[in-house]
Amino acid sequence: MTACTLCARTAPDGEHLCLVHSGELRDWLAEIPAQARLLQEFIAPGARAAEGRPGSGRAHSPAPVDLRVLTLLGPGRYDPAGPDDDGQAPIVALLGAWAGHIAYQYPSATRDRHGVQRTQPCEQARPTEGETITGWCAWLTAYLPYARTLPLAADLHRALGHLVHRLRGLTHVEPRRYPMAAPCPQCEACALLRTDGQNTITCAVCGHQLDLTAYDEHQAAVLRAHQAAPTAV
Ligand SMILES: [Zn+2]
Ligand SMILES: [Zn+2]
Repeated sequence: MTACTLCARTAPDGEHLCLVHSGELRDWLAEIPAQARLLQEFIAPGARAAEGRPGSGRAHSPAPVDLRVLTLLGPGRYDPAGPDDDGQAPIVALLGAWAGHIAYQYPSATRDRHGVQRTQPCEQARPTEGETITGWCAWLTAYLPYARTLPLAADLHRALGHLVHRLRGLTHVEPRRYPMAAPCPQCEACALLRTDGQNTITCAVCGHQLDLTAYDEHQAAVLRAHQAAPTAV
């Protein structure tokens, strides 16, 4: 058993993050594309204004767009091993650089032109959905089980945490979390939460996760146990 790099909880064998912190990473990767779409809308009204009003005779100048939004949605460079994030890194550059950083640690089995099998680091990450915010988030989600086994997992958590808080600060949208009635099947704490728009329920204390069907079954079992227990008169 190893300790989580970020807190006092234990991490699963061979991993560097506890279930709570790795769950946060997964949730953030699901949230980032939605936050980016909201930011796109900040730019869209300006674009519409530029088309001009009917009968006005001339186009109106676009509404001023927050430069921070343009920077976040624009192209650029980011170095995961570089100095601390100054909050200026564009989303797609930050995600792509982290994917590249993880891919470089990933042993890739290849055959050279003589047919000899070699194991070497992946040269680069290639998201199947393209090098977009959504594509990189899907890639990083798929590689999370591997990333959790690397010491860099804590830095990835910090970088994505900064990014998500920056996005929430601009959009003023934060996913709502609802407490669930049944206690956690793992640690028995009354700390199960469901996040808006997600199909999993997570324990805020131990990080245990269950899907909606598993939760319904668990809740029904808890109810049956209560009904079977003799009631004090
Ligand atoms: Zn932790
Ligand atoms: Zn729990």
